[in-house]
Amino acid sequence: MLEVNVDRCIGCGECEEVCSFGAIAVEQDVAVVDYDSCTLCGTCVDTCPEDALTLERSDEVRDATDLDTWRGVWVVAEQRDGKVATVTYELLGKARGLADDLRVPLTAILMGHEIGDKAVDIASHGADRVLVVDHPAFAAFTDEVFGNTLVYLARQERPEIILAGATSMGRSFIPRVATVLETGLTADCTELSIRKDDRALLQTRPAFGGNLLATIVCPDHRPQMATVRPHVFKARPATENPTAEIINVNIPEGLLKSRVRVVESVQELVEGPGLTEAEVIVTAGRGMEDKKNIALVKELAELMGAGVGASRAATDAGWLPERAQIGQTGVTVSPKLYIGCGVSGAIQHIVGIQGSEIIVAINKDPDAPLFDLATYGIVGDVKVILPLLIKRIKKERGIP
Ligand SMILES: Cc1cc2nc3c(=O)[nH]c(=O)nc-3n(C[C@H](O)[C@H](O)[C@H](O)COP(=O)(O)OP(=O)(O)OC[C@H]3O[C@@H](n4cnc5c(N)ncnc54)[C@H](O)[C@@H]3O)c2cc1C
Repeated sequence: MLEVNVDRCIGCGECEEVCSFGAIAVEQDVAVVDYDSCTLCGTCVDTCPEDALTLERSDEVRDATDLDTWRGVWVVAEQRDGKVATVTYELLGKARGLADDLRVPLTAILMGHEIGDKAVDIASHGADRVLVVDHPAFAAFTDEVFGNTLVYLARQERPEIILAGATSMGRSFIPRVATVLETGLTADCTELSIRKDDRALLQTRPAFGGNLLATIVCPDHRPQMATVRPHVFKARPATENPTAEIINVNIPEGLLKSRVRVVESVQELVEGPGLTEAEVIVTAGRGMEDKKNIALVKELAELMGAGVGASRAATDAGWLPERAQIGQTGVTVSPKLYIGCGVSGAIQHIVGIQGSEIIVAINKDPDAPLFDLATYGIVGDVKVILPLLIKRIKKERGIP
């Protein structure tokens, strides 16, 4: 319980200013707490210049180190404009196995506006429960509202694991949640498993520039939090008659206030399919040698209905935009067919294409590392090979 010592409080308003949850306001020169909105984060206590605020945690609100009081696996179900992100299904697929290993329920947290019909869809992909928070405050994404809500729900229900997508949304608000819950967060995991002896979540991710894989545990705090890149795990197929419980949750109004106002959301127009959804990707590397040769990659991609990807060397050279970069510091892709044109196969690039079903490498150096991973390899100059491929496809399709 957060208490205000009215004799000490001078009504300066610093507590009101730092409270991210809108849970404290100065009224008639004294701080007044809205206990429905207060998450007991303690920021106001640390900020008060007069030591007028004290925080005592009741028995019910045990802290993050009381490990046995946290149970269950949660997935943050991401959606934008009513479209569920594919990473949500992938997370549910992985989290189902983790929850079964721990013998606990799997809960999906769905926040948005007018998204009720999405709950059944999410339930059919493996969740035992779906907590639905449907309110106009979630129509546009803001860190404060989504973060406050997840903190509030986690404090109420105390899950031992929270997983979210390492998407622009997840990367933005999940660190805030981990900080307020006073726990750890492993970003960009590529593997997750349970250590049976102590129920710890083993969180594996590339480290030191992708040269080694680090397995990280959060031994002393709960929840254990991790973000996972899209296209790393496989989604579970949907079941026809899901039995999951769908629960509508009301959030205290105070938590739904944000200091950020979204003025406008603009969708970027990209040519061809987006890389994360593309079934075929043609990728340009430094071996394309010159910006003018990128036209060959684009022409082949257009003929194949493919997305255009790039190695970092190609984006650094300004041949393609940064959003086309595949790899550790770019996007992770899992197309049916990936064609690398003049890409050497550095580990930082490979980590982004490992989920591809078929990999074709075109390189004039027969020792290029990408050939070790490739399903098919073509040794030769891209400026010769690509025109041949283009010509052949056009001929097959009767295109002049
Ligand atoms: C922390 C960190 C993060 C990074 N993140 C990423 C990332 O996300 N994505 C990424 O891609 N890289 C990343 N890198 C860079 C990565 O290490 C490599 O430098 C980069 O992937 C190399 O790109 P490339 O294969 O196009 O170029 P190179 O390694 O220079 O390879 C060019 C290849 O083209 C071949 N070639 C040359 N001319 C021709 C021709 N005419 N015909 C056919 N083949 C030809 C050569 O034989 C060579 O194999 C990162 C590096 C660091 C340190």
